[in-house]
Order: sequence, then C-alpha cells, then structure tokens
Amino acid sequence: MSKPLFRELITPFLRSRMDTLRLRHGAASPEYQALSRQYHYTDDEQAPAVEANLRHYEADIGLSIDGESLPGVERLYRRTLVIEPTLACAAHCRYCIRANYPRSNLTEDQLTRIAKYCGNEANRGDLREILVTGGDVLLVPDRVNHLLNAIREHAPNIRTARIATRIPVQDPRRITGDVLRIFEAKSPLRVELATQINHRVELCTESVAAYQAVMDRGARVYAQNVLLRGVNDRIDALVDLYDALRELGIESHYLFHCVPLRGMAHLRTGLEEAVALGRALTCSGGISGRAKPMVAAMTDIGKIVLYDGTILRREARHILLQSDYTLEERRRWNPNWRLPESAEVDSAGRLRVWYLDGAELDVEREAPILNPTVDASRRAVSLPILRVAS
Ligand code: SF4
Repeated sequence: MSKPLFRELITPFLRSRMDTLRLRHGAASPEYQALSRQYHYTDDEQAPAVEANLRHYEADIGLSIDGESLPGVERLYRRTLVIEPTLACAAHCRYCIRANYPRSNLTEDQLTRIAKYCGNEANRGDLREILVTGGDVLLVPDRVNHLLNAIREHAPNIRTARIATRIPVQDPRRITGDVLRIFEAKSPLRVELATQINHRVELCTESVAAYQAVMDRGARVYAQNVLLRGVNDRIDALVDLYDALRELGIESHYLFHCVPLRGMAHLRTGLEEAVALGRALTCSGGISGRAKPMVAAMTDIGKIVLYDGTILRREARHILLQSDYTLEERRRWNPNWRLPESAEVDSAGRLRVWYLDGAELDVEREAPILNPTVDASRRAVSLPILRVAS
C-alpha cells in the first residue's frame, strides 16, 4: 500500500467500534463502511483525479493587527471570526479540509491578542460570534477556557462562542472535568458545541452520553454533516441520521458537499446529486421540519448554500456558483483578502466562484454521470439548468 498524503490516525475507541461493527454486520455492510470510509486510508486516495486542491480556500485569508500577523485566525464573514487554537486532532477524517494545514498551537498570549482584536473599535460593530475550531480544540481545554475568559474580558460584543469538535464520536471518554467546564453557562457569552456526525452508527451509547453531558451543562449542540460517497449518500441513511439527531436534541446545520481535495475523488458525490438528496430530504415530509439541514458547498470564497439561483452554469467538470458576498465588504472585514483565481465579480459587485464537481461527465448526454445506486426518483429531480457550455 502506498504512503498516505494525510497520516492515518484512528483512536482506540474508533478501532474497537469498527471491530464490533465488522463482527456484527460484516466488512461490506453499510454500518462498517460508514466508519471505515471516514477513517481508513486506502489506495483510492492515490488514484489519478482532477481534484488537486490542498486547502479548502485557495486564498490568503489571514489577518494582521498593527502590522503584525495574527496566526490561527480566519476572517471571511461579517459576524463570525474563526479561531484555531490547535490544528491537532484525536483522529484523522480522510476528507478533512484541514488535512494539509501545518500543525500549530496558539499560546495564551496569542489567544489574548485575538480576544482584543475581537473587541477593538473596528470590529465591535460587526463581530458577534467566534467559531473556535482546529484541529480539535477539546484536545486543549485549558486554551479554550483561557480564550473564553479573555473574550469575556476584552470583547463583550461577542455573544456566542461555537466550539467545534468530533471528540464525542471519536474518543467520548475525554468529555469530562475540564472539557465540560467549557460549556457551563456564564452569561452573557453563550457557548455552543458544533459537531460533525455523518452516519447514525456514530451515535453509540458512549457518544450519546458525551453529547448529553454537554447539553446537561446548558449548552446547545448542533451538527453539520458531510455528504460522503458510500457513507451516507442514500436517502434512507440520511433520514435515519436526521431522525436520530432530532431525537437526541442535536440541531441540524449544514449538509456539506465533500470538498474537491486531492485524493478524495472516491468520497465525493456530484453536486446535482447533493441538491437532489437535499430536496428529497427536506421537501418530502420524511423528517421533522426542525431537523432539516441546509445543503452547502465550501468554495474558495466561502460557503454557498445551494438555494435557487446559486447554480449558474457548467463548463465540463466545473460549476459556476453565485454568492451574495461582495468584494467590497470582504475587503472591509479583511483587507488582506485576495480574490482567488477561481472567483470573479459580477456587474453588481457580488462574488461568483468556479467549483469542481464530484461527478464525472457523460459527454454524449451533456450531463453529469449519476451514482448508479441513485434511484429513479432522484434521477428525475436532477437540475435542468446545468448545461455543458458550448
Ligand atoms: S476531527 Fe475535524 S478537523 Fe480533525 S480531521 Fe476530523 S474533520 Fe478534520
């Protein structure tokens, strides 16, 4: 087997969970594959493919303050600042957008500077939230507690802190003591746990208990999910997942199309297929209205939720997506931000971006090739506006 681009890292908890699923259901079962495809390296990652990006934004989105760069911070959006205290994780999800980021940890001094940046005069009017992510920040709970205390002291404009983690499904025994203290209510800063769960099989007894312990501290828990070929790209798997989240009181956020990273072609669906699955999931009455996710693509200019009018046209494997972000505002929030090569500005000053689809193209039909397991109803809803440019 050849060497992975992203080192395989699997916790003992996940290994034991996969062993149990393999023995109970078999190695080819959807239950075992749902975990194995997320964590095991395979030679599929070395197969020739068009996906070549090493990072999810092919753009410089770093910040500086008083001429000095502020590491571990990304500013793309008006209301929310992304802060990355660590880039280490308990386990490596094969398709992760952070796979090719250099490993780093922020010091307490750097976190205090970030808190001051959040509360300075220029940002007080716009910034309302921080997304504390990584890596997995629950590996460094003392740093997260330090950051939250600094935010309370220096940035009263920040009303919500979102703490992103997969530890409840990767190593739930870590959700104790110091970690749980992060989620204790301390008004006026509301702390939420943002997680990623891609298949119902991840919600075993230990993981559910970990999420429950956080909710018992008064924190909200919400999940974003990634649509992955062979893991959850079937309507029955998605219905099961969102039913389970609803039952547990975990709120739904985005259902992400898998990003076009190098080595990940085998895990990606077509974008049309993602939209069709999202439509089947949210417009069918199959799940609670309170469990419906927003289908979104992570592009070089940020997230684009795939509403009507966001998919403009196709040229071979690339799809032009329309956003309502404007270049002017983007530069106002982050003067360092540069327009990536994949992006353009429309006549109203709004950003558009070319996004690499996950589906191969059937040149004769002038349409993307759908997954052979896609059923007839899903074929019938494929987007009529997508055409190969002549
Ligand atoms: S835990 Fe999160 S940051 Fe770490 S590899 Fe998985 S998705 Fe990426």
